[in-house]
Amino acid sequence: MQFSDFGLESRLISTVEHLGFTAPTEIQQQAIPAAMKGHDLIASSKTGSGKTLAFILPALQRLAKNRALSKRDPRVVILTPTRELAKQVFSQLRLFTSNTQFKAVLILGGENFNDQVKVLEKDPHFIVATPGRLADHLTQGHFYLNGLELLILDEADRMLDLGFAKQLTQINNAADHRKRQTLLFSATLDHAQVNEFAQELLKKPKRIAIGGAFTEHNDISKRFYLADNLEHKEALLQNFLKNEIYQQVIIFTATRSDTERLANILVKQDLSAVALSGELNQGQRNQIMEGFSKGHHKILVTTDLASRGLDLVNVSLVINFDMPKHAEEFIHRIGRTGRAGSKGDAIAFVGPKDWLSFKNVEGLLEQTISFDKVDSLQAKFKGLKPKKAKAKKSETNANKAIRSKTSKTKKATKKVFHVAQDVGDMPIIKRKQPLSAQQIEDSKLDETK
Ligand code: ADP
Ligand code: MG
Repeated sequence: MQFSDFGLESRLISTVEHLGFTAPTEIQQQAIPAAMKGHDLIASSKTGSGKTLAFILPALQRLAKNRALSKRDPRVVILTPTRELAKQVFSQLRLFTSNTQFKAVLILGGENFNDQVKVLEKDPHFIVATPGRLADHLTQGHFYLNGLELLILDEADRMLDLGFAKQLTQINNAADHRKRQTLLFSATLDHAQVNEFAQELLKKPKRIAIGGAFTEHNDISKRFYLADNLEHKEALLQNFLKNEIYQQVIIFTATRSDTERLANILVKQDLSAVALSGELNQGQRNQIMEGFSKGHHKILVTTDLASRGLDLVNVSLVINFDMPKHAEEFIHRIGRTGRAGSKGDAIAFVGPKDWLSFKNVEGLLEQTISFDKVDSLQAKFKGLKPKKAKAKKSETNANKAIRSKTSKTKKATKKVFHVAQDVGDMPIIKRKQPLSAQQIEDSKLDETK
């Protein structure tokens, strides 16, 4: 199959060819025609399989072929959970819109609000945004969505995870008319809550799941190592950074403070490392991501802030210094390597604090994972066993948690989305009063920060 088989405008096809893409990926083969027919979609495929083009192309085609419903309102809104991902999607979109009459704008939290008001006054056709800030502009009447034709949620599950359900519903309600089409994309879309949410937002959606709803990437080799404690993890890390062959590496930690700390340790050893976390201001974040994507740094130490969507083609190794709190983030983290058909390596350290998360990942991947060893750095820790004795009579909460979380995918998907969740060492927040959009955007717990 070829891109020219879709019946897309010739200008779109020539841009795709210009990018050097000869054949559509599987998700593109299925999602592009379905979206062009006007279907709402819930689409999942593995990380790095070209989902961005799978929604950008039908959106551009729709705008070129259909008359606008309104002269002033945006026609396409694309939402992503993090600012970095929004920027990446925006730059891909700009490749297609830069020589056309279509205006595309980027609206992110952390940037000047009034400048964005001016940008919105120019009546853009496309808005790529993080949901909190966009919802704030909507609340203040800086733009309207009556003419919206396409709402696209990239990494939809993560936006819900981060507590943006209210903002997504608000955006949805502001564009609630018959001709609105909605597309949901992710590599992990099998949550009960995503399905509930999809019922609210989507009309008779078509489901496209290339390789299942939790789509693991088979070209990424995974290795797991037991670790006793922080020092042991640091020794393992040094060992791998010394002995593995890699172009660039991303190291994921559980806490923001650890990103800085680890990067400092590595820099002292003359390694080219840099830390990215939500604590930094947007200018710093941009600078770090730009430097890393241009290859100025070899090692990026970060949190789940960078787990989703980022397409950094030279990342050949991902190290989970700590296991992620949410099992599906494991799939996304390791998916920062092995992009667009290439292979990648992923290493994970599993200490006592990671055990529950590790068991969740095992459940999600539906496999029993065995551990690798570094001869000189073997762990005494051998894993935690759920206590069996007395379990029936007086099961502890911890055991209950382990039991319920280790059971297979179905159980793992019964996660509850809270108003706002962190990805670091802070507790999950559950509030009776939902936070305002600005509070979420500004909150330290907000990963888009
Ligand atoms: P996903 O959203 O599924 O994780 P992306 O949309 O970020 O994946 O695409 C991953 C990489 O694949 C990008 O570098 C993108 O330019 C490239 N790509 C997209 N479509 C194709 C294609 N048809 N052939 C080859 N490479 C592609
Ligand atoms: Mg993506």
